[in-house]
Amino acid sequence: MPKLNLSYRDLHPIFDQGPHTDELEQLLSPRFERPSLRLTPSPYISQKTLEKRWQKIDPLTEKKHLLDEHTLEHAEHYNKNIEHFIGTVKLPVGIAGPLRVNGLYANGDYLVPLATTEAALVASYNRGSQLITAAGGSSAMLINEGVTRTPVFAFHNIADAGQFVAWVVTQYDHFKQVAESTTSHGKLHDININIEGNHVYLVFEFHTGDASGQNMVTIATNEVYRYILEHAPIEPKESFLDGNLSGDKKPNAHTMRHVRGKKVTAEVTLSRHLVEKYLHTTPEKMVKFGQMTTTGSALSGGIGVNAHYANALAALYIACGQDAACVSESAIGITRMELNPQGALYACVTLPNIMVGTVGGGTGLPSQKACLDILGLHGNGKAKALAEVAAALCLAGELSIVGAFCAEHFSKAHQKLAR
Ligand code: NAP
Repeated sequence: MPKLNLSYRDLHPIFDQGPHTDELEQLLSPRFERPSLRLTPSPYISQKTLEKRWQKIDPLTEKKHLLDEHTLEHAEHYNKNIEHFIGTVKLPVGIAGPLRVNGLYANGDYLVPLATTEAALVASYNRGSQLITAAGGSSAMLINEGVTRTPVFAFHNIADAGQFVAWVVTQYDHFKQVAESTTSHGKLHDININIEGNHVYLVFEFHTGDASGQNMVTIATNEVYRYILEHAPIEPKESFLDGNLSGDKKPNAHTMRHVRGKKVTAEVTLSRHLVEKYLHTTPEKMVKFGQMTTTGSALSGGIGVNAHYANALAALYIACGQDAACVSESAIGITRMELNPQGALYACVTLPNIMVGTVGGGTGLPSQKACLDILGLHGNGKAKALAEVAAALCLAGELSIVGAFCAEHFSKAHQKLAR
């Protein structure tokens, strides 16, 4: 009879023969002796600090795998991106494509660099990209953008909170001026107010030009936050620069219907012939798969419905100098597949939280810039195009993986390429 629930004894073998109180206490108690290793106090990169840090690392570690000659030569480029630098991790980068995108901003055939250690991933995106291209490309449309910071203020009671909000709503022009004094590209474009009892959350939403914008909006909002603390007619009892409403690095239901970063929708229509040729299945089977797995997704309590946006976004973000942790908020959205009246497969994806930039962050680092250069999307005026390419890439991955499940190739492909 299979067990349905684990008991505490199943948690770890240590519980097997009773509680072992002494052993547990010894293992889990705080220890206050001096750490045997200490880093150099300076977090910055210089020849001297690099050497000192490496002296602390186990001599059996193969230094050259982290601090190779090229990395050493370009070490100072990393100063604005990392502290206590010791080298770079090399990840394999593959290329998928061409991926034809017919977007408002991305228009062309893109070769997409993807950094991953997961076998079958690049092959799958390559197949999906070629299929989309054979179908004339994916139409892609950026439909919204905005990045937020959300200060929170606590008052004695809701009357004070209400008076504070009454003042806030008269301050939009001041707030905009103060925020935009910190950045030439960031533009405050909305303020949303959320009152919960005697707490007030202010949602400052910015357009961030070609930067993904998290630093930009934090710095700009901090300036307004300081202004508020100095000028508000009611002094808050307590306040913080961010009240965790922004969705920074967390998936959430609000941004599913709104936006964080860039919201893009992308679609393609595939003839029966193309589905059979590239995916070895039929449009009907893919639609059925979509119906059954959408129910599965609802049962699992997921936000939106998608098969694996995270694979595309993690590999693209890492290759192209984006903040990889933002995959947590970016990898939500909706994938939908339908039969059209001609029996062809209509497929679309909508991703509301694509956090990408083509300037700032890690986009200027040597390998990351090279990957953006492969796409032709480094620098000014390119971020919206990168977001549309990211959405089309997710669509390619959804088609390929759904095809693989329908043709019963999913396990076989991993077995062949990963083992
Ligand atoms: P950033 O590198 O801090 O800022 C972008 C810079 O590019 C600004 O100095 C901006 O100048 C300049 N710029 C030049 N041309 C631009 C253009 N065409 N469009 C926009 N800006 C342009 O990068 P960020 O995108 O704001 O922040 C991304 C980084 O923040 C990532 O590394 C991420 O890991 C990190 N992050 C920070 C936080 C946080 O709360 N601080 C949270 C999550 C992630 P102007 O400002 O003068 O326009």
